Amino acid sequence: MELIFDCSRPGRRGSSIPKLRLPAASAVPENLRRKVPAELPELSQLDVVRHFTRLSQLNYGVDGNFYPLGSCTMKYNPKFHEEIARMPGFAELHPLLPQLRRGGALTQGALAVVYGVQTLLSELTGFAEATTQPMAGAHGELTGVMMIAAYFRHRGESARKVMLIPDAAHGTNPASASMAGFQIRVVATDGDGNVDLEDLRKKLGDDVAGLMLTCPNTLGLFDWHVREVCEMVHAAGGLCYCDGANFNAIIGRLRPGDLGFDVMHVNLHKTFATPHGGGGPGSGPVAVKEFLRPFLPISRVVKRADGTFYLAYDFPESIGYIAPFYGNFSVLLKAYAYMLTLGREGFIRVGENAVLNANYIQAHLRDVLDLKYDRLCMHECVLSAKRLVAKGIHALDLSKGMIDEKIHPPTMYFPMIVPEALMIEPTETESRETLDQFIAALRKVVAMADTAPEQLHAAPVSTPVSRLDETQAARKPDLSA
Ligand SMILES: *Cc1c(COP(=O)(O)O)cnc(C)c1O
Repeated sequence: MELIFDCSRPGRRGSSIPKLRLPAASAVPENLRRKVPAELPELSQLDVVRHFTRLSQLNYGVDGNFYPLGSCTMKYNPKFHEEIARMPGFAELHPLLPQLRRGGALTQGALAVVYGVQTLLSELTGFAEATTQPMAGAHGELTGVMMIAAYFRHRGESARKVMLIPDAAHGTNPASASMAGFQIRVVATDGDGNVDLEDLRKKLGDDVAGLMLTCPNTLGLFDWHVREVCEMVHAAGGLCYCDGANFNAIIGRLRPGDLGFDVMHVNLHKTFATPHGGGGPGSGPVAVKEFLRPFLPISRVVKRADGTFYLAYDFPESIGYIAPFYGNFSVLLKAYAYMLTLGREGFIRVGENAVLNANYIQAHLRDVLDLKYDRLCMHECVLSAKRLVAKGIHALDLSKGMIDEKIHPPTMYFPMIVPEALMIEPTETESRETLDQFIAALRKVVAMADTAPEQLHAAPVSTPVSRLDETQAARKPDLSA
């Protein structure tokens, strides 16, 4: 790739500055001035525009291409939401504007949005109240397990120090529980891809604070025994946390609160069509049952009898602030617009089409890749490349080969209980034609294991940077090459 310095030509300029009409003077004292001029590239405006436009086009995003990254729900984010988030009445609002008396009129609309998001999320998930403060899914998990810890502290049950986590779980689950001070105890998955009830029975005890379960789970499967799992944990005195990052599959049709869960997070930047990738901004609201309400973070948006809103802080059992101010407000706005646009009927179609698309892909690839759990899947399917290992081809090679097919690879090597895993989540926003292109591309890459294995080992060859030595790239990054 050509670097901007390579295009530099002495004397070339991209701007014109008016001639001085006064004697030159410097504000910088002599001893602080540069001895030699700074080495800056000298370029025309057009060179600069072309350079940055080219760079922006190297970026892969869902606005340009299919993005089947499993567990990430890379769905299309309607542009209408951006207009809402840009409205000056929202975008220029300062978080320290007074919410009462003078200035209150300016913030009532924003408080109504936060309250609206809280209320609709509680309704969709089946809980009593939600907080919109957490800035990501993992942050929501931390908030949720901190509330569980506060609940047991409040009850004087400080011996409950263990969080149960299935072996299929997303890595953030044990990380969040551990940050909140819990020890992790792993629960096995059974031969159908559900929680192994026998193993769960063995792992329960009066040291257990709860279980974190992803629903549907990270294998893309709905656990047939989810109610029973919640009952078993409750009978042992623990609480049930629902990782709702996969809510897209069941939204509008099923409420985790009704299944027995006590606390749940959702990812607005997955299920609720707000942009994501590149590290943010995200939002991971958390919803709780009535008995956990006292522990919710402050501040909380409360509605008065006259229909106005205010921020309330006086909750002595609250876990306190979990984020500055009121969460990622522009993300809440976009999610609110999405919820009001779709409505209940719309959400049911979201889930149905997400599940239909994932099953379409699973059905069209299962003859060339392995399916560890042979069931209908939910919003994503997890296939395995293990039959190719004997030919020297791994999931990594297939993923790199997909890059040369101009398609973002699926998630790979996760969940860890599926060898050579490829986890594919098409989302509901993709057309059948796009799914067919993806299927054809992946089948072509799989076939290369026989016809052109060397080419697969070398892939990607069509990108500015070819296959990296990932260990070296992490340990000794060369950021200027
Ligand atoms: C994405 C995801 C998370 C974490 O969400 P972030 O917003 O990335 O922190 C947690 N659990 C599951 C199952 C996920 O897919």
